Amino acid sequence: RFATLTRQPDDPLLKIIGQHAADPRPDKIDLGVGVFRDEEGRTPVMTAVKAAEARLLETQASKSYLGPEGDTGFVQALGRIVIGDAVPSDRYVGLQTPGGTGALRLTAELLARAGVARIWIGSPSWANHAPIYRQAGVEPAMIPCYDLTSQTFDLEGFLAGLNGAAEGDAVLLHGCCHNPIGIDPDAAGWAAIAERVVAQKLIPVVDLAYQGLGDGFDSDAAGARAILAAVPEALLAYSCDKNFGLYRERTGALFAITPDADAGAVVLSNLLALARANWSMPPDHGAAIVRIILEDETLTAEWRDELETMRQRLESLRAMLAEGGRIGTVDLGAVAHGKGMFATLPLSPAQVEWLRDRHAIYMAGSGRINIAGFNVAAVGRFHDALRDMAAN
Ligand code: PMP
Repeated sequence: RFATLTRQPDDPLLKIIGQHAADPRPDKIDLGVGVFRDEEGRTPVMTAVKAAEARLLETQASKSYLGPEGDTGFVQALGRIVIGDAVPSDRYVGLQTPGGTGALRLTAELLARAGVARIWIGSPSWANHAPIYRQAGVEPAMIPCYDLTSQTFDLEGFLAGLNGAAEGDAVLLHGCCHNPIGIDPDAAGWAAIAERVVAQKLIPVVDLAYQGLGDGFDSDAAGARAILAAVPEALLAYSCDKNFGLYRERTGALFAITPDADAGAVVLSNLLALARANWSMPPDHGAAIVRIILEDETLTAEWRDELETMRQRLESLRAMLAEGGRIGTVDLGAVAHGKGMFATLPLSPAQVEWLRDRHAIYMAGSGRINIAGFNVAAVGRFHDALRDMAAN
C-alpha cells in the first residue's frame, strides 16, 4: 500500500537551517527559524524556567498519569492571566495541549464534530493553519488582506472577504504578533471585527502564540479579550512555547468560551474525547514549569521581567532596522510598526536567493524574517546588503 503514497515536499525552513549550518562565511545571518534569540544568537532557557525546573525535580513525587486534561492547575492559572475578566470563569473551560499546535488541532476537530464546514483565515497566515483545518475536514477559506509594500493590514478587505461567510462558519484570528506579517489590527480594528463576528454569528478561533512579545503582556491580549467578551461561543488556542521559551516542551492550552457552564461541560467532554483519540494525555514537563511559575509571585515577576527584556529587544531591533529607511522596494520604516518576532518583506524568491548567495543572509523564500535573528552588527550588514541589491 505504501507504494500508493506520493513524496511530500520538505519543510522549506528546515532546508534553510541546513544551508545556513553548512555556510562557512563567519558573518552569516540566520533570519529563518522562528525562535527568539539574544544579541549573541542564543535561545537560552529563561531563568524563571530553570528555577521552576529545579523545584520540580526536587518536589515531584510521581510520574503517574494525570489525564487527558493535563495539569489543571496550569490551565486555571493560565486562564486567569490570559482571559482575565473578559469572560466570567463559569463561561469557559480549558485543557492542556501539546503546544499551540495541539490546541489548534483540537479546535479543528471540535469544529468538524460540530458541523462547521469552513474557517476563514486572513492571508498570508502561519503555514500550518490551512493544513491543520483541511486535515480535520474544515475547509480553509483564505482572505488576502496584507500589503507588504506598505506593511499594512487591510481591515476593509478582510471584512469584505467575510461577506462570503455563512452563519456558523469559523474565523481564525491571530491574537497578537501576527505570523508571518507582524501587523495586528488596532483597537478600532478589533472592535470592527468583533462587531462583524457577532452580526454574522461566526465562531472566532483566536490563536495567541506570542503574548508579551508585542506591546506588553496585557495589551497583547486586548484584541483576543475584546473578541471573547463579545460572543457566546469562541475558541482560544494558546502557546507558552515562545513567551516561556519552552519550544520543545510542547506547552499549550485550549480554552472554549460557551454560553453557560452546562454548555461548557458538554464542550469539555468532547475536547477530552478528542484529546484521548489524538495523544491520550499531553506531556507534563512544560505545563508543570509554567504552573510553578504562575503560582509563585517571585517567579512570576522574574519571568515577566525577562519576557519584557525580550520584548524590548525586538522593539529596539525594529527601530534600528527602520533607520535604513526605504531601500529599493523595501520600506524598513514601515517594518518598525510591526510587533513580535516576524515581518515579511516585499522580496521575490530570486531576491531572497540573491541575498543568501551574495551576502549570507538567510530568510524564508516568502521574504519572512525573524527580527530576533538580528543583532546590532547584523542590522548594519542587512542595510548594506539591501543597498547592494537595489544598486544591482
Ligand atoms: N500559532 C502560531 C501563529 C505560531 O507561529 C505557532 C508557532 N510557530 C504556533 C501557533 C504553535 O506553537 P507551538 O510551538 O506551541 O505548537
